[in-house]
Amino acid sequence: MVFDNLIIGSGPTGLTVAHQLLQKGKIVHLIDVGNTIEDSNKDLGNEFLKDRDFYKFLRTLDKNKKIQGAYNNPNLKYPFGSDFVFRNNNYEKIITNKADYISSNALGGLSNIWATMVSPFKDEDISDWPISMNRFYKYLSDVEDIMPISSSRDNLDNFYNIKIGEEHGYKISNAGKVFYNKCEEKKNLLNDKGIYFGRAKSAISSKYSINGKGCQSYGLCHFGCPNNNMFNSKYLLEDLLSNKNFHYHTGLFAEKIFQDKNSNTGKIECRNVKNNEICSFYFNKIFLSLGPIGTAMLILRSSLIEQDHVRFKESQRFYIPTLLKSISLKRYQVNKNTLSEISITILNELISNFSAHLQVYSFSEIMLRPLKDFLGNLIYRTPYFLPFIFNNIYIILGYLHSKDSNQMKLKITKNKRGEYEYMLSEIYIKDTKEIVEQFIDLLKKEMNFIYINKKFINNGITGSSYHYGGSFPMSLDEKIQCGSSINGNLNQYKNIFITDQSVLPDMPGSPTTFNAMVNASRIINEMHE
Ligand SMILES: Cc1cc2nc3c(=O)[nH]c(=O)nc-3n(C[C@H](O)[C@H](O)[C@H](O)COP(=O)(O)OP(=O)(O)OC[C@H]3O[C@@H](n4cnc5c(N)ncnc54)[C@H](O)[C@@H]3O)c2cc1C
Repeated sequence: MVFDNLIIGSGPTGLTVAHQLLQKGKIVHLIDVGNTIEDSNKDLGNEFLKDRDFYKFLRTLDKNKKIQGAYNNPNLKYPFGSDFVFRNNNYEKIITNKADYISSNALGGLSNIWATMVSPFKDEDISDWPISMNRFYKYLSDVEDIMPISSSRDNLDNFYNIKIGEEHGYKISNAGKVFYNKCEEKKNLLNDKGIYFGRAKSAISSKYSINGKGCQSYGLCHFGCPNNNMFNSKYLLEDLLSNKNFHYHTGLFAEKIFQDKNSNTGKIECRNVKNNEICSFYFNKIFLSLGPIGTAMLILRSSLIEQDHVRFKESQRFYIPTLLKSISLKRYQVNKNTLSEISITILNELISNFSAHLQVYSFSEIMLRPLKDFLGNLIYRTPYFLPFIFNNIYIILGYLHSKDSNQMKLKITKNKRGEYEYMLSEIYIKDTKEIVEQFIDLLKKEMNFIYINKKFINNGITGSSYHYGGSFPMSLDEKIQCGSSINGNLNQYKNIFITDQSVLPDMPGSPTTFNAMVNASRIINEMHE
């Protein structure tokens, strides 16, 4: 049997493709490794909903803890105490050298742990792309239908040319409000320096929620949202399962694509992750949404390109703790949205021709997790007892445009046993610390309501933004091996489409997932126009 439309991956981009194809009345098959959370961990959300005891919930996470701990970032989210998002297959061994990454084999991919931050791209940031803003964003509303965005009409509207989302249905926290008001007081001065701010736009909504309502401010965004308010593509998949045209094949690792450049039909071999058996599927069109690293590994081991490596662009990530210059004696607020509540964008040509995107987080318990192993669960109560300190702490997390950042290379090799290995290493291009410091100097000068000490800048290693891609950038030159057409097909292969952020020509500082979904939706819509 030959499948007309075969998708690999159930993350946000794979599900966008599936949804759009189903809307067009097509029959869709989706292959996924598809790891899921253990029942015992999943139940913790329901347990919480019974008594809504925040501290008890944090204590119960330990009981179910099955954490690998192999990642550099101590603040990663382990939904309901499980590491299922990070449990990868036995067939892909990635060795890193001065580079960081996360790839997932979970149902829902990395949307199980993402921070739900979204934003359009700034026009200047993508002005040299081979596609116009209008064409790129033409099918934006299709993505908003499947992933509603909470947004506000504010100062950020003077920065972006594209407006997204509906008014936030939940309140900004007390600490968020204080910071926001301070920015508002200095609005004109900030805007003069190219600094714009507003409530963070996030993929938070009531669409898939358990009680049909929006964000309940449980304070658990970094531990697992018990009410399913944070978008996760697995919720969309669960909805699509009722469509008779949708066929989900889970437990399968996509191992190798066999595709003759002149043939309209290809074959993919998959391995059953439980019994290791190989099965094959034939396809007319295949859509690769494995996440940029997964997609590159599949293309490399399938020898679809001649070279043995792929290059990724990334948005350099940095963060810095800051302290408000005034003391607040108000009670520390546990029940709040603990994601970033304020976005700041900076486009100041004295520093760069490209914008930097900053997310402001007020203090929350996840920041204490690295101390928990030494001091126990009581550590989580510290902010409650010392509100005059913790009310005033904010973390600013920033991302640069990939043109201001270093890059990564993924090289495929075979070990002595004949198995494939993948070496992920940094490609040094520039000293990113210098440009980060310039952005921080500007903040320090213009946002003089916060203390910032540059000594505390944490300039993450390349890849630690988890916003990488640009590995098969869309271009008008079909001869480039490691490239794709504007229609999304891998150059030289008319029926292999790349539908994740591998095809974005750059990784602007603004969060990319929403934009990659918009692009995936465009590819499918244009294909059927
Ligand atoms: C901690 C963290 C926070 C983040 N926060 C944000 C944010 O706030 N905003 C933002 O825009 N982005 C954020 N991101 C990035 C975002 O999560 C990813 O860009 C997004 O999930 C990518 O979607 P995707 O569908 O392309 O791939 P993924 O979500 O990576 O999904 C890949 C899918 O492919 C499947 N798969 C992989 N390999 C194979 C194989 N060989 N065979 C079969 N199936 C396979 C997996 O099972 C999975 O279903 C964050 C990432 C991390 C790690």
